[in-house]
Amino acid sequence: MTPSDTAMQAKISSLQPIYDTFEHEAAPYKTQAACCKGCAYCCTEAGAIHITTVEGLAIQTAMTGLAKPQRAAAKKALAKEMSRREKGLSSPCAFLMKNKACMIYEARPFACRRIYSLETCSKEQPPILSRHVMEMGESAIKSLQRLDDTGYSGHLSYILHMLDAPRFLETYLAGAFKPEEVTDFGKSHQILINRMFAT
Ligand code: SF4
Ligand code: SF4
Repeated sequence: MTPSDTAMQAKISSLQPIYDTFEHEAAPYKTQAACCKGCAYCCTEAGAIHITTVEGLAIQTAMTGLAKPQRAAAKKALAKEMSRREKGLSSPCAFLMKNKACMIYEARPFACRRIYSLETCSKEQPPILSRHVMEMGESAIKSLQRLDDTGYSGHLSYILHMLDAPRFLETYLAGAFKPEEVTDFGKSHQILINRMFAT
């Protein structure tokens, strides 16, 4: 393992404490949450699921642990979701299974972890959550962006697409910061440069 691999592994390992701190602080507000297993409107009508590149690496690692057919299905669904999104069409999250469970639950990104609702969501009913929890979530996002200060943030399938590009991955894993290499894709896909937002 190279020093840069070790540094990136350390960053991936630092995700869970950020998630755990948020969960711990938000727990008192979530005791009356309507969320339950099988309720997945937030995964089918999620809009943009913003993740950081380090979270993307954690998701890619989780995908390597999936059975081969499931991994292939996820990759196909990611490509389809990305293509539909680029046409302005909505699509369920690529990791949502037929039984409404999340294929990568243990590695799901913070965007999914922060959402809960005091009322069951529907087309007419967006999630209802405490303003304090929203603020805690914003603070956790800053921590995630600071952790990933040579990386980027954007919609889940876009970030995974970037990480699938060998040249981008090589630069990123080496800890180099070369935003000029992703300018075109970044601008057309609303990709954020973490170090510009993590203050
Ligand atoms: S946030 Fe809404 S859709 Fe998602 S699990 Fe909770 S109640 Fe269900
Ligand atoms: S990653 Fe999992 S929890 Fe998040 S939207 Fe997709 S299926 Fe839902």
